Amino acid sequence: MLSVAHALQLISHRPAFQQALHAWYRVHHRKLPWRDVPSLYKTVVSEFMLQQTQVATVLPYFDRWLRELPDFAALAAASEAKVVKLWEGLGYYTRARNLHQLAKVVVALPAPPRAPAEWRELPGIGPYSAAAISSISFGEPAACVDGNVVRILARLTGEGRLFRDGSEAAKHFTPLADQLIIGTDPATHNQAMMELGATVCRRQNPLCASCQVAKFCAARATGRPEKFPRLKPRLIEQRAITRVWCEYRDKLLLRRGPAKAKRLAGMHELPEASDLGVKPSKSSLLAVKRRTITRFQLTESVYRVKPPAALRKRITRNAALEWVPVKQLDCIALSGPHRRWIGELGNR
Ligand code: SF4
Repeated sequence: MLSVAHALQLISHRPAFQQALHAWYRVHHRKLPWRDVPSLYKTVVSEFMLQQTQVATVLPYFDRWLRELPDFAALAAASEAKVVKLWEGLGYYTRARNLHQLAKVVVALPAPPRAPAEWRELPGIGPYSAAAISSISFGEPAACVDGNVVRILARLTGEGRLFRDGSEAAKHFTPLADQLIIGTDPATHNQAMMELGATVCRRQNPLCASCQVAKFCAARATGRPEKFPRLKPRLIEQRAITRVWCEYRDKLLLRRGPAKAKRLAGMHELPEASDLGVKPSKSSLLAVKRRTITRFQLTESVYRVKPPAALRKRITRNAALEWVPVKQLDCIALSGPHRRWIGELGNR
């Protein structure tokens, strides 16, 4: 119940909270390319790129994207291959395809949507992106609630409840976020909340001593603000994958993701041994790579396989497999980790 009291207290101090937060944001926000001379297109592209990806990673991609595809019309007219290639290395490729589809819808409309509910009808747009786009571009009073905002609100209110996951926590804090945005400039407010979460109220080592909203914060008084919010630990699933490195006459064998695949549609990766129907010998192990994708911890072992004539025939019959000339690897869309591995293994 303590947190409810803190939430009500925070709402009762809304003007002072907004004033402190916005004054801090105006002075301390990072200069980012989608904030300089903002436009609806820049906001939409940045929101797609920033889903699950850090600002520092997004910056070079955003600049290149804007140079190649400067507006919705250019994006709508681009080929899917170009869109996927420009996205290469950012991961979560469904975002690129959804953004492409969204551009096609937007250019076909007489005017872009304004309200969050209208944005939510478009491909790849969830509640957070809808609120971000409509508040930043059209001043709609829709509060953004992502992991950063959940963290700030859980700490401000000292919410001790254990949440099943981030989306349950986001639902819980949405009414409070909606209250805190009332009567102010929604674009500044949402961006200030996101910025505070990214740069001050960080997951680990929050900078409470220099936080401009510290006087409203219940978690700070506990001495352990990083304990909030309380989320059930994610169950991590281990997966072992056997991949093959198969070269023949200056060509490398790759597998292209099917057009309708949820992940990696149109992207190339090193094939799995099961794609070729082979069982590589232990002595041909080239490398073991580990990475985490959502809740999966992957251990990928890459084996060299020499393609005898019978295997080459089998490969030719598998439509997903392609022999790609090594010289053309830069021209195709490869998943980010696989491009790194291929660069590394190809130099051996
Ligand atoms: S005082 Fe600390 S925990 Fe509270 S909002 Fe500021 S940075 Fe976050």
